[in-house]
Amino acid sequence: PHPDPRAGAAVKAADRAHVFHSWSAQGLIDPLAVAGAEGSYFWDYDGNRYLDFTSGLVYTNIGYQHPKVVAAIQEQAGKLTTFAPAFAVEARSEAARLIAERTPGDLDKIFFTNGGAEAVENAIRMARLHTGRPKVLSTYRSYHGGTATAVNLTGDPRRWASDNGTSGVVHFWGPFLYRSPFYSETEQQECERALQHLEDTIAFEGPATIAAIILETIPGTAGIMTPPPGYLAGVREICDRYGIVFVLDEVMAGFGRTGAWFAADHFGVVPDLLTFAKGVNSGYVPLGGVAISGAVAATFENRPYPGGLTYSGHPLACAAAVATINVMAQEKVVEHAAHIGETVLGPGLRELAERHPSVGEVRGTGVFWALDLVKDRETREPLVPYNASGAANAPMAAFAAACKKNGLWPFVNMNRTHAVPPCNVTEAEAKEGLAALDVALSLADEHTV
Ligand code: PLP
Repeated sequence: PHPDPRAGAAVKAADRAHVFHSWSAQGLIDPLAVAGAEGSYFWDYDGNRYLDFTSGLVYTNIGYQHPKVVAAIQEQAGKLTTFAPAFAVEARSEAARLIAERTPGDLDKIFFTNGGAEAVENAIRMARLHTGRPKVLSTYRSYHGGTATAVNLTGDPRRWASDNGTSGVVHFWGPFLYRSPFYSETEQQECERALQHLEDTIAFEGPATIAAIILETIPGTAGIMTPPPGYLAGVREICDRYGIVFVLDEVMAGFGRTGAWFAADHFGVVPDLLTFAKGVNSGYVPLGGVAISGAVAATFENRPYPGGLTYSGHPLACAAAVATINVMAQEKVVEHAAHIGETVLGPGLRELAERHPSVGEVRGTGVFWALDLVKDRETREPLVPYNASGAANAPMAAFAAACKKNGLWPFVNMNRTHAVPPCNVTEAEAKEGLAALDVALSLADEHTV
């Protein structure tokens, strides 16, 4: 890449004049002007290159600009760029077939959307119509998207501004041993108590009022907490007992991120509905969807499904999905994600935790890892308070700045950094990222007791 600061300045100036950015105070942001990207790296106009340990927003599972997927998009653009959703179109049919072949159990029908939030909206609509019930349960430690229902299902503070108390969502606590809401000391206790808490919530809400329980199979943005053995099977059993639709949100965890096609595969659990987006085509063209079980699909066999989108199953997005899934199969990208997690990222992050007192816990699998940063390993007090901003968040801001200075673009959320590179990150790249984290963690260590 050739540095071109003048071109970068023009891109930046038009952005600051006219682009209204997500989740941001428009006057307080300073977006980096990006000149290009390839594989696990992107670069700016000033000659700085960054190793992307965020995979964009945890979606470029095959890295940037994979030549086979770029070619497939170009080929589809030349053939049939777009076509309305009511027709049978080759790219859409083939994408649905490849996805349905990989989703667990009998999740064999695919409703396509443009992204994750729309997938969640439609999954909940299906569950409400299938059961005839109004309420939906989700966990506090979750993110499900930015649209009306999805943001109300979300547990993190991004919900607050949109929560007017009419969404029909009830929040509960999922299992998380390191910060246990149940004072548990073992995984087994955490599993049993979290399931009991869910049972109690259902009993007090009224089982016949609850349409669905939605969980991220492994919660992502909220901290990458792998549920204890038996938890998801327990939720499945509770849903069956009360006739509640079980929705697994695999928008972030799906398509290789955890070292399996779907995170549900690790637990042998089959939901009634599964939402996906992001990794389905590495986000090269916007695409998401809901994979639907036979029982829920049957509800809409002779009764119209009251939902749809102009771009549902857009041919360009579906062609990108077909190419991405085929590349992932041919290049054994899912197996690679599992292997790099077991042999490089997991051991490397645990080794950092041994040397850095600011690392309270290392959690994860595949290319889906979190470092929970703390002031005090004994009390587990977070390095910065929940939802901190400004001066209170300074230690995390300094950590992120140090990563960038060392050529690493980090994922930072509250008191955590997540190591979430592409699924096909090489061993050398993973080690390069670990080395940059090592330097930045030394700064975080200065804030420990
Ligand atoms: N669900 C989960 C688990 C997510 O991580 C996200 C996005 O980060 C969403 C839903 C929303 O997806 P989108 O931003 O494509 O609407």
